Amino acid sequence: MTKISSSLFALILSFCFSISLTAQNFNLIKDYIPEEFSSVKTHPILTLKTTLHIVYRTKENPQNILANDLKFINQQYLWVNNSYKNLKKPTLLPENGETYYIPDSRIKFRLDTIIVHHDSVAWDRIYRGLAMNGNLPWKIDSIDINKNTIKIVGKWEGLLRSRGDSLVIGGSNGNDGVYHTSSFYTIENNTYIILKEKLDNDIIDGYITYYRKIDKNCWKDNWEKLANSDKNSIHVFYTGASSTQPAFGCGPSPYFLNLSKLDLNGDYASASLTAHELGHCIGLRHTNVPQFNDLPPKDKFGFIPCDTISVSNNIMGYNKCRNYLSPKQIGFIHQQYSNDTAIIRTTANGEYNSSNNIKIRLKTTWEKSILVSGDIIIKPGRKLIVKNMVSMAEGANIYLSKKAKLIIDGGLITNNHGGKWGGVIICKSYSKRTKKPFRKANYGEIIFKNEGLMNNSSK
Ligand SMILES: [Zn+2]
Repeated sequence: MTKISSSLFALILSFCFSISLTAQNFNLIKDYIPEEFSSVKTHPILTLKTTLHIVYRTKENPQNILANDLKFINQQYLWVNNSYKNLKKPTLLPENGETYYIPDSRIKFRLDTIIVHHDSVAWDRIYRGLAMNGNLPWKIDSIDINKNTIKIVGKWEGLLRSRGDSLVIGGSNGNDGVYHTSSFYTIENNTYIILKEKLDNDIIDGYITYYRKIDKNCWKDNWEKLANSDKNSIHVFYTGASSTQPAFGCGPSPYFLNLSKLDLNGDYASASLTAHELGHCIGLRHTNVPQFNDLPPKDKFGFIPCDTISVSNNIMGYNKCRNYLSPKQIGFIHQQYSNDTAIIRTTANGEYNSSNNIKIRLKTTWEKSILVSGDIIIKPGRKLIVKNMVSMAEGANIYLSKKAKLIIDGGLITNNHGGKWGGVIICKSYSKRTKKPFRKANYGEIIFKNEGLMNNSSK
């Protein structure tokens, strides 16, 4: 493991966005917390599908991680997944002093595909470019060639003072259109700019603006252009920046995040940055203001070592530890991904896997929503009561054995992954699943209550 210098770590930037709730009837967060004793059947591992886009500046000069550097890429995923799986105790406690913590978040990121793009525009996330927003560019009102002065309408001293060191005059052939400001003044509602370089008399389009830092770290343009706005995966973009600065990232959406300059970053620091940005993607906010009441009331930011006094070790903080998530942060993510049908498709939990079959051996009530990736087998004479949403995997069945009951009490059994689940199969038992009970009176029963519903099945 590469040891990273504290100054490098201190300069890694990231930004915070959050996703909002789309449904109102979610259960309490605590129902979704995967406690150590919680069954993996009802509190399954949430596996998020990711597509890695590596954007080269050019084919010849990638200025990025190389797509065949699988050692780097796999190590990054390993570190990120380890940080979500092997959580440490909190260094900073919530107001009530509660020290309880969850060692394994049961959240996993799976690398499905690597795609390479050669695209210098997509690559360059922070650069110097012409300011063309707001009131810019300014329209030139008049030019006094003798005084080498340009007049524009409006009072722009503030902007000129902070940004107007070098100006760009559209259509000017002299100096490639770039001029420097010697001084400026306002009279009434007009601003006069005196230029250092001699103005040419050939200005065509009469507009003026300046160079500024353009920051596309959090933009969605790459997701739209390079991933076709796909919502079936989390698209991870490895990009770069022509401006001089260390690695940075942004996770503004459940469908994409940006990570720039990882090739120049410490290996582990890159993974720590990725874990943090993925945290934003899946719904977590920064910990300087607590999102949940099991977080400390304050958390000092600044890529400083975590401590027991003011700096947390939370993945969503700006600290050098980043190895803790609170039970409610974890529960919230599971709650979102169990209920919000817009984001369930980014999970791999809709891929059928018989090793995740659930056997109902006792009368069971599911109060919370669950992502089920295997079959559900209700044993003879047993009862399953569904009170919330059950998202079934593609092709998965519910086997309703002799005299068993499936009671959908206000709940919904469906497929939220863009396909269809199998359906309910009335059978003698799972081992005799092709046979029906002898007498119809012994058939398993499906009972709908309180607007309970079943849909998106193929049978
Ligand atoms: Zn952040």
